[in-house]
Amino acid sequence: MSDKIEKHRQSQLKIEDEFKIGHIDHGSIELQNELCGQNENELHDQNELNDKSEFDTEIKELRNRIDDIDEQILKLISKRFSEVQKVVALKKKHNMPVFHPAREEDLISRLRDQAQKSDMDPDFIEELYRVILRNSRLHQSVEMKQQGIRPGSKVLIVGGYGQMGSYFVWFFTTSGYEVRILSENNWDKVQELCMDIDLVLISVPIDVTLETISRIAPHLPPNALLADLTSVKTAPLNEMLKVHSGPVIGLHPLFGPTCTTLDKQIIAITPGRKPRECQWLIDQLILWGAIIVSSDAKEHDHIMDIVQALRHFATFCFGQFLSKHKIELSRTLEFSSPIYRLEMGMVGRLFAQDSSLYSEIIFATPSRRKILKEFLLSLNEQIEMLDNNDKVLFMERFSQTAKWFGPFSEQALRESTFIINKLIERF
Ligand code: NAD
Repeated sequence: MSDKIEKHRQSQLKIEDEFKIGHIDHGSIELQNELCGQNENELHDQNELNDKSEFDTEIKELRNRIDDIDEQILKLISKRFSEVQKVVALKKKHNMPVFHPAREEDLISRLRDQAQKSDMDPDFIEELYRVILRNSRLHQSVEMKQQGIRPGSKVLIVGGYGQMGSYFVWFFTTSGYEVRILSENNWDKVQELCMDIDLVLISVPIDVTLETISRIAPHLPPNALLADLTSVKTAPLNEMLKVHSGPVIGLHPLFGPTCTTLDKQIIAITPGRKPRECQWLIDQLILWGAIIVSSDAKEHDHIMDIVQALRHFATFCFGQFLSKHKIELSRTLEFSSPIYRLEMGMVGRLFAQDSSLYSEIIFATPSRRKILKEFLLSLNEQIEMLDNNDKVLFMERFSQTAKWFGPFSEQALRESTFIINKLIERF
């Protein structure tokens, strides 16, 4: 490039000289013009070069500053983490639970306020902090897993090699309990296994739960706590109360055994007898990170008819309809709106799991099957509307239902939008 500059300087001198002696021929002018054009291009190149190097220097400085800030953010998160460790140690000492809903919500609303005052998007700050808080809770839950409310107590898990049973075997074992397992194959040892037992947890398939409860009852010490993990509660709770005179409580984990921690996982409890003697078990679940929701067994089962049975059954029917009509799934997904993708995620998820698990939930009780039939019959009400091409009736039914949903509709819109945006971010 310096050659070009030198050439440009030489030609400038030549033009100046020729003006001085008053002798310019046309050929020479053409040459000069050509050289001038070249010179302009070269100057332009040079300016671009200068611009670029100025840009490079400035952006480097800016990026360095951002890198510094990122480093500080990481240091601060790590510092926050160290402080959280101190909280964990204190909670461990006092056997306090990991999750403190009020504290988290106070923190989030304070940060939202601060974000607004600093001209930042409060939703963004909330999302950022929810990630930080969840990570911190997960870490605490892992530490708390080893924390036993009554370490050394003897726990017998009936069906302890099954999915839910083995999940709880692991939790109790890592928290210092003496865990025994009763399976289909070692009933001959039942007397020995029940000796001095503090807690018996029934975790067998629903259809053998009642007979298992009555079968083990004669072997239980009178003060042993008897509990079950069954997804339906009325019949097992009644059976436990009937055959055992000691403390009784029903538990229903509202999650599958694939969750790595109990952080914020909901466990429904249905108190049976001697709640004070059952409290340590509830405290233990809370210490592992679970959220406890209490109800009587009848209310629990009625709610589960809707939350589990109707939801899963409707999903099953939808999936079966798609398969019967041989819908080209992958092609529809190419055209999918985020909401369709979300819906298909839910449907596909169901069929990726164990059919026996869902059959147990759906066929659990006669009253449940009755509700599911009512649901199917209610679909027939829409046939006439479609036959009559009755849009007015559709809109009438739509607004009646929207009115029934009330303020929940707004909440649902907000929450589902959040999930959809997350999906769009990811896929
Ligand atoms: P599972 O089939 O994986 O496990 C059941 C275990 O019980 C098996 O190991 C089986 O061999 C054993 N068993 C069967 N009959 C027995 C008997 N007579 N004596 C001793 N053991 C026997 O089932 P699961 O999914 O672990 O479900 C167990 C309980 O947990 C059920 O009541 C279910 O409703 C409840 N639950 C399961 C889930 C889940 O997602 N898996 C969620 C919530 C509640």
